[in-house]
Parts: sequence; C-alpha cells; structure tokens
Amino acid sequence: MRTILAGNWKMNKDATEARALLTAVMGRSCKAPTGVEVVVAPPFPYLAMAVELAAVARDCGVVAKVAAQNCHHKENGAYTGEVSVPMLRSLGVDACLVAHSERRQYFGETYALAADKIHLLLQYGMEPILCCGEGQEERENGSFNAVVERQLRGALATVDRKDYARLVVAYEPVWAIGTGLTATPQQAQDMHAHIRGTLVRIGGEAAREVPVLYGGSCKPDNAEGLFNMPDINGGLIGGASLEADQFLALITAAGRAKQP
Ligand code: PEP
Repeated sequence: MRTILAGNWKMNKDATEARALLTAVMGRSCKAPTGVEVVVAPPFPYLAMAVELAAVARDCGVVAKVAAQNCHHKENGAYTGEVSVPMLRSLGVDACLVAHSERRQYFGETYALAADKIHLLLQYGMEPILCCGEGQEERENGSFNAVVERQLRGALATVDRKDYARLVVAYEPVWAIGTGLTATPQQAQDMHAHIRGTLVRIGGEAAREVPVLYGGSCKPDNAEGLFNMPDINGGLIGGASLEADQFLALITAAGRAKQP
C-alpha cells in the first residue's frame, strides 16, 4: 500500500515564497525516510516551478509529485479564466484535487461535476485526489457514513475498474478543516474503513489498494496517532504544508508510522 503526504497550499504564497518553500521541501525530503510519496499542490501560477523543482527530489529517489488544486470539467473551449486537464498534463502535473470542501462550499461544486473531472483526469493519465467528508451537522446527527458513501458513489459511478490503480481518496471532515479540530484517530480509522469498504463495493477488489488520506488540522503533534491507524495511508495537509519544517515533520511521521 502506498503512503502519501500531500500539501494543499490553497491561495497562499507569492512567487518568491513559493520558490523558497518548494526548494526546501524538495531538497530536504531527500533526507526524510523513504517510502512516502511527497505531493505538493501549489496554486496554478507555480505549477511549472513545482514540476521543475520536484525533479530535485526525484533525482535522489523520492517519489515526488505535483498536483493542481482544481481543473475544469471540460477538455477545452470558451471558459474564460479556467484551466483544463490537458494544459495541466502538458506542464508535467501528475495529479489534481477534486471536490475539495472549499470548492464545494464556496463554488457550489457537486459530486456530479467531480465525476466529470475524474473522467478527464484519468483519460489524460493523471491521478485524481478525490476529497470527501461530512459537515458538522452530519457528524452530530449520525448521518456521516451515509453522506460519505453518497459522495463516493456520485464521483465514481463511471470509473472503470482498471483505473482504480490511479485513484487517491482523501477523507476530510469539513468540521476539522482549518478549525484546529481534528477527528480522533479512532473516528478517522472508522471512517477510513468505511470508505475502503465502499470503494470495494463500487470498484471491486482492486479498489482495496486505493490510498485513503486523512485531512483536517493534521499537524506534527497529532499526526502520529492518525498515521498509525491501519486504514490511514497518509495525509492531505493544508495549514501545516505552508511551513517547510512542519511539512517535513509530517513526511517523517508518515514514514515512521508506515515502516514494515
Ligand atoms: C485541507 O484543506 O485540505 C486541509 C486539510 O486543511 P488544514 O490542514 O488546514 O485543516
């Protein structure tokens, strides 16, 4: 099973800061424990720079990948201001976040739209990182398992079984994103086991190997408990990915937790 540590920078950093952070993360990940895939998802203007600097980590044997935070669901056309999957692919971008809760919350994105994006990403040989997760009310009223299952079914309905090898899922309870509240390791483990079961029901046995990442206020001081859980295969990190020391500490924590 792959272990992945992905950093979602959201709408942060200017170009100078982006170069400094990418240089530090890619350079220093060479000294981190091996076996963890390192993924950075900077804003669109820095993707080419990230592809160039990820080569430094690749040269020393780290599986380093670059992800976009978003893509359009159509291949090309008159969609002013949008960025397409073929554009990302032609830059050397490896992956793309899909249905992040901030896209759902602020831009009205649905899982039907996510299905279209996933279809295109797979067609272009990229890895969709599909985000799912319940809101506060759904956690409190106990509907969270049903909500997440519905999200996954909506996004994955048309995915071919052979393509599950290129899918990554991130469980991000909306109430934990950027709030300082984290799911307990047991809450996260229970949901990750539910997600894995759902993936297998939708996509068959091959879907059992889909990495399921945890996201939501994951920091160096709470990561160990989460990463040690059997169905947690790494993290999707927001705030703590903006500081090289913290992100590197999380790579190390993921590597340590997943050592055989
Ligand atoms: C995220 O937005 O993907 C995320 C996990 O953010 P944070 O770590 O800041 O909660």
